[in-house]
Amino acid sequence: MSPRLVLVLGDQLTPTVAALKAADRARDVVVMAEVAVETDYVPHHPKKIAFLFAAMRKFAARLQTDGWRVAYTRLDDPENAGSIGAELLRRAEEVGATEVLVTEPGEWRLIEALRDHPLTVRLLEDDRFICTHAEFEAWAKGRKALRMEFFYREMRRKTGLLMEGDQPEGGQWNYDHDNRKGPPKGLFGPVPPRFDHDDVTEEVLNLVETRFDTRFGNLRPFWFATEPAQAEPALDHFIAHALPKFGDYQDAMVTGQDFLFHSVLSVYINAGLLDPLEVCRRAEAAYRAGDAPLNAVEGFIRQIIGWREFVRGVYFHEGPDYAQRNVLDHSRKLPPVYWGGETRMRCMKEAVGVTRREAYAHHIQRLMVTGNFALLAGIDPGEVHEWYLAVYADAYEWVEAPNTVGMSQFADGGVVGSKPYVSSGNYIDRMSDYCKTCDYGVKIKTGPDACPFNLLYWHFLIRHRDRFAQNPRMAQMYRTWDRMADDRRAQVLADADALLKRLEQGQPV
Ligand SMILES: Cc1cc2nc3c(=O)[nH]c(=O)nc-3n(C[C@H](O)[C@H](O)[C@H](O)COP(=O)(O)OP(=O)(O)OC[C@H]3O[C@@H](n4cnc5c(N)ncnc54)[C@H](O)[C@@H]3O)c2cc1C
Ligand code: SF4
Repeated sequence: MSPRLVLVLGDQLTPTVAALKAADRARDVVVMAEVAVETDYVPHHPKKIAFLFAAMRKFAARLQTDGWRVAYTRLDDPENAGSIGAELLRRAEEVGATEVLVTEPGEWRLIEALRDHPLTVRLLEDDRFICTHAEFEAWAKGRKALRMEFFYREMRRKTGLLMEGDQPEGGQWNYDHDNRKGPPKGLFGPVPPRFDHDDVTEEVLNLVETRFDTRFGNLRPFWFATEPAQAEPALDHFIAHALPKFGDYQDAMVTGQDFLFHSVLSVYINAGLLDPLEVCRRAEAAYRAGDAPLNAVEGFIRQIIGWREFVRGVYFHEGPDYAQRNVLDHSRKLPPVYWGGETRMRCMKEAVGVTRREAYAHHIQRLMVTGNFALLAGIDPGEVHEWYLAVYADAYEWVEAPNTVGMSQFADGGVVGSKPYVSSGNYIDRMSDYCKTCDYGVKIKTGPDACPFNLLYWHFLIRHRDRFAQNPRMAQMYRTWDRMADDRRAQVLADADALLKRLEQGQPV
C-alpha cells in the first residue's frame, strides 16, 4: 500500500490530533513545513513565528522518537516550495503518495486551498474542542440571536464543570458582577515563568532574527514555552499564583504590569501544547480544594468553554466571508500608532507597547483600548483584523476574527455581541492607572486636550444613530446626548472631526 501524507499544521501540535489518530505510523509520512506564504500573508510578530517554528521542530522530533516518519521542511531549506499546497505536492512525488490526511485548519483560506488541492485530501474534524460543528449547528438552529451566555450553560452541562447535579455550582451560572474591580494603587501580579532556550529554540531565533528583522515586534527576550513539558509548569504557576485573583482584576490595566492575573496560556492552548478541558479541570480542582474562589474559577472556565468555544462555533457557522464583513461601512486606514507610531495617548502607548514587546496584550487592552479606538475612529475592520492576526502570538483566524470583526468592531452586525463595545475615556480611567500620566485629560470633553475617546465616542454614536438608537442598552446614551446644549454638541462633533482629519493625514494623536 502506498503511503499517505499526514499534514500537521503549526497549531496542531497535539500527539492525538485527528489526522495522526487516523494515520498508520508503519505506512504514512507526516508532513510539516515552515513556509513563506504562512509567515508573510500578514506580517506576523517575530515572537509568534519563533514560537511556532520552535514548537513545530520539537514536535516533529517527538513524533520521530515515537516511530513516525516525518518529512520536515525548514524555512531556509533550498528545496522549500513556499506554500503548504506546494510542499504537499513535492512530498507526494517524493514518497509516491496520492492521498493526504489533515485535521481541519482553523482558517477558511487554508480549508479552501486544501479542498481545491490536486491530491485527494481528507479533512478530519478537529476534536480538540469541546463543541463539535454538529453540536454548534444544532444549538444555533432556529435561534434569533446567538448569545454566548446560553451556549456556555450547554458547555457547563456537557463537561460537568462547576456543576452540582444539573445546577450550577453556587446557584449562579455567572459571577461577573464580582469581577469588575478597578486596580487599587500598587497592584501587581505574578510574572509568568520564563523558559531558557535550548539549541532548537536558539537556532530558530537566529533564523527569525535574520529573516524578519524589519517586522513590528521584539523577538528577544524570548521566553515562551515551546513544548508541553514547559507549558505544563506554566499552567501550574498560573493556578497557584494568579488564578485566585483572576476574577477580581480581570478587567484591570496597570502601567508596567503586562500580565496582571491573566494566565498567558492562550498561546499554548491554541497551538495544542495544552488541552483546554484539562486546563479547566485544573482550575476547578483548585476551587474544590479551597485554593481559588468561585468568581475567579467560574470566570476563567467561562473564557475557555464559553467564549473560546463560542467564537469558534460562530466562525465556522458564519462561513468564509466572515472576516471581510463591514456592516458599519468603516473605511479609514489603520493609523501608524498601531505600529508603534508616536502618540500622546497613554493607554494606546501601553497597549501597543506590550503588544510589540510580548506579542501579547490581555483582553481588556485588546477590546477596550486598541479595539475601542479603532471602532470609534471608523477604521476599516479588515485592516483591524489583519493587525490583530499579525501581532498576537495566539492569533489564528478562527479565534481572532470573531473577536475582532465581531466582538470588537461590530462589523458582523451583532452576531457575536448584542451591542458594540464602545466607551468614552471614563471606562479606561476607572479600570486603569493610564489616565493619570496621559497628555490628554480624561475629564476634558472638548478642545485640544480632550481625551480622544471622549470626542470619538459621541461622534460614533451620532454617525450610527439610525442603527443603535433603538437598542435598549444604548438608548440612555442617546438621551444624554439629546439633553446637551446645542453649542456643546456642535463643539464635540467639530473637535472629533478635526481629530479624525489628523488621523487621516497620518498625524499623531
Ligand atoms: C480584538 C480581540 C482580538 C482577540 N484575538 C484573539 C486571538 O487571536 N487569539 C486568542 O486566543 N484570543 C483572542 N482574543 C481573546 C482574548 O483577548 C485572549 O484569548 C486573551 O487575552 C489571551 O490571554 P490569556 O491567555 O492571558 O487569557 P486569560 O485572560 O487568562 O483567559 C483564559 C483563556 O480563556 C480563553 N479566552 C479568553 N477570552 C477569550 C475570547 N474572547 N475568545 C477566545 N478565547 C478566549 C483563552 O484561551 C485564554 O487563554 C481576542 C480578543 C479581542 C478583543
Ligand atoms: S485620558 Fe484618554 S487617551 Fe489618555 S489614557 Fe485616559 S483614556 Fe487614554
